[in-house]
Amino acid sequence: MKPYTGVIPRYREFLPVTKKTPVISLQEGNTPLIFSSRISALLGTRFRVYLKYEGLNPTGSFKDRGMTVAISKAKEQGAKAVICASTGNTSASAAAYGARAGIPCIVVIPEGAIAMGKLAQALIYRAKVIAVKGNFDDALRIVREISSQYPAVLVNSINPFRIEGQKTASFEICDFLGTAPHFHSLPVGNAGNITAYWKGYKEYYSQRKISHLPRMLGFQAHGASPIVRGAPVKKPETVATAIRIGNPASWQGALDAREESQGLIQSVTDQEILAAYEILAHQEGVFVEPASAASVAGLLKISKQGYFEQIAGKEITVSCTLTGHGLKDPQIAIKNIQPPPVVAAETERVAAAAGI
Ligand SMILES: *Cc1c(COP(=O)(O)O)cnc(C)c1O
Repeated sequence: MKPYTGVIPRYREFLPVTKKTPVISLQEGNTPLIFSSRISALLGTRFRVYLKYEGLNPTGSFKDRGMTVAISKAKEQGAKAVICASTGNTSASAAAYGARAGIPCIVVIPEGAIAMGKLAQALIYRAKVIAVKGNFDDALRIVREISSQYPAVLVNSINPFRIEGQKTASFEICDFLGTAPHFHSLPVGNAGNITAYWKGYKEYYSQRKISHLPRMLGFQAHGASPIVRGAPVKKPETVATAIRIGNPASWQGALDAREESQGLIQSVTDQEILAAYEILAHQEGVFVEPASAASVAGLLKISKQGYFEQIAGKEITVSCTLTGHGLKDPQIAIKNIQPPPVVAAETERVAAAAGI
């Protein structure tokens, strides 16, 4: 078997690249699809829930799948610079792939609303980071204007190459399972990813690689749920900073995925997000950032509401995207947990403190 070398070589025939495209890769993709007995059991005996652990990409989020394609195409086109707005992970990814391509990267972020790990990444990869006194939607408006007036290629998910790369996650899920899941659950922020997954599933279906399509289940944070409300949210608020977005760029893509797949888009509260975040870490050993846990929180919520009772089938397979790594935002993890006890450096004291 040939060694794995990234999503472009792996799924080249589905991607807008040619022999002339320089492949800028950090061997992204090929992430594990982990069976979760605990979350399956919480839904019921018919369920098999799999976790697509995208935090294990090179910069710690699924953004790398799209960025390898976007930066490779930018390089092919001779870009002098790339630019993006970001809630954190897009900037980390753009900065890393920009560094690898030798293309300067400009990042515009909402001031004070970025998890520490993500900011550290953008800085150490030496992106030019600029914080604005505004939110993500302001930052996106500004980089759109800059990229239309200056020679800098926009690498937000409105860049279609990003969506193309991100759709490879659904290919991997189908290749792993040998079929499509019945449901696919994921968090929704700017809605690029739900658009990308649905595109991927549809392409595999039209190539007859799968015989049915999943229903798409998208979850926004309650305080940042424009699609659920049907109107932009001026001041989006949520602990899940990666989905703190009030006016999603791929709004229509999300609606299409919902309608065409007969799925749903709902919201989950910060409390529900943090409860799922803890279950994933404590009961499965899978550490994700809060936004990622929205997919599991949503699944548990609609299950409690009886959503699956109307669904027939002896065995129901659900895949759940866990979009980013927990180490991105360590402050959230330790916020509500007692700090460790400090005792004398003596075996008996440590044993006593450990309760054994
Ligand atoms: C970007 C991101 C999201 C949201 O994805 P969209 O494509 O904007 O909907 C969710 N979780 C994490 C960790 C992200 O980085």
